[in-house]
Amino acid sequence: MTIYLDNSATTIASQKTVEIMTKYLIEDYGNPSSLHRMGFRAEKTLKEARKNIARTIGFSEKEVFFTSCGTESDNLAIFGVMPKDKRQNHIISTKVEHPAVLKALKELEKRGKKVTYLDVDKDCNVDLKGLEEAIDESTYLVSVMAVNNEVGTIMNLDMIKKIIDEKSNGKILLHSDAVQGYGKIHVEKLPVDLMSLSGHKVHCTKGIGAIGVRDKVNLNPIIFGGGQERGKRSGTENLPAIAAFGEVAKDIESSLDENILKGRKIKEKLKKGIESEIKDILINTPENSSEFILSISFLGTRGEVILHTLEEKGIMVSTGSACSSNSKSMSHVLKAMGRTNKEIEGAIRFSFSKYNTLEEMDIVIDEVKKTVGRFRKFGSFR
Ligand code: PLP
Repeated sequence: MTIYLDNSATTIASQKTVEIMTKYLIEDYGNPSSLHRMGFRAEKTLKEARKNIARTIGFSEKEVFFTSCGTESDNLAIFGVMPKDKRQNHIISTKVEHPAVLKALKELEKRGKKVTYLDVDKDCNVDLKGLEEAIDESTYLVSVMAVNNEVGTIMNLDMIKKIIDEKSNGKILLHSDAVQGYGKIHVEKLPVDLMSLSGHKVHCTKGIGAIGVRDKVNLNPIIFGGGQERGKRSGTENLPAIAAFGEVAKDIESSLDENILKGRKIKEKLKKGIESEIKDILINTPENSSEFILSISFLGTRGEVILHTLEEKGIMVSTGSACSSNSKSMSHVLKAMGRTNKEIEGAIRFSFSKYNTLEEMDIVIDEVKKTVGRFRKFGSFR
């Protein structure tokens, strides 16, 4: 038995993904740049997939570019919009971004840019006053994720956009890492100039990502070569994955609301079950959050031990922190939310997909209860 509750890390590929990828690997394997009919068919597929994704993120077809993953999309956004004007040297982001953003920003700092990392409150909401105060003449980019990958908070991008537009007359660009938002919330409504996506979080495959870039944005490439993706991202297109990503987009378009509802029921059941069965817990995930993430600290335990014990029962979860009690490698997100080391140490992230069931949650509640109870009775029993 496997109950997979680590869908924020990656997801199972859908049957459709497998079928489409197989077709484009062994039948329609042409290169979109080739001039013969196989190339022509590949180009048509590429166009179709781009169109499907564009519709689901609120960008036009010509504003969507394929990349290899969410990390690449984040890097492309951050390095690609660097202005020529040296006076424009300030970026604003948050303390709770994914390393794909944070490490890219650290690199920019080494290259002389100034970065302000905004605080968040106990629910992981961005400090909007801090944003207002941080914006100055030199600010050219604000990067804030759509949904936090550790606790699921949905960031207030509408307010963020309003503030930056008011303070800069619409001159500052807004990028959002929507890797945990795509297929989970209505990202097509987000008021952003650049949006990063990743295929493997939505039942497509590893090795495919995309970025939405508004027409007005002057995006310079970070990879140079054959000029694919209109020069923004060279390298032969990963057509099997792109074709599958386009199909996934169609699924998202037709069943996002249904999936959100399903996720809500599953999350509610697990949350209520754990709350009523287990004492001394701290729910890290706030009300205003993705229906697909639930982070809970089981006080007086170690998340890493709970994770491995659940794994033996076939239940896959993730810790809220890296696998160490060393405070340096503890979750930067929970830390920014003001959690104590002990609270961070006992954190577990359950993350769901449309393939999870309510019945699975009965088993999970039972096993988590037993595991936490044993840990609290005997200490670290592994
Ligand atoms: N951004 C967020 C919020 C993520 O959760 C992840 C993956 O965990 C990434 C970016 C990186 O995406 P990828 O694994 O496609 O590089």
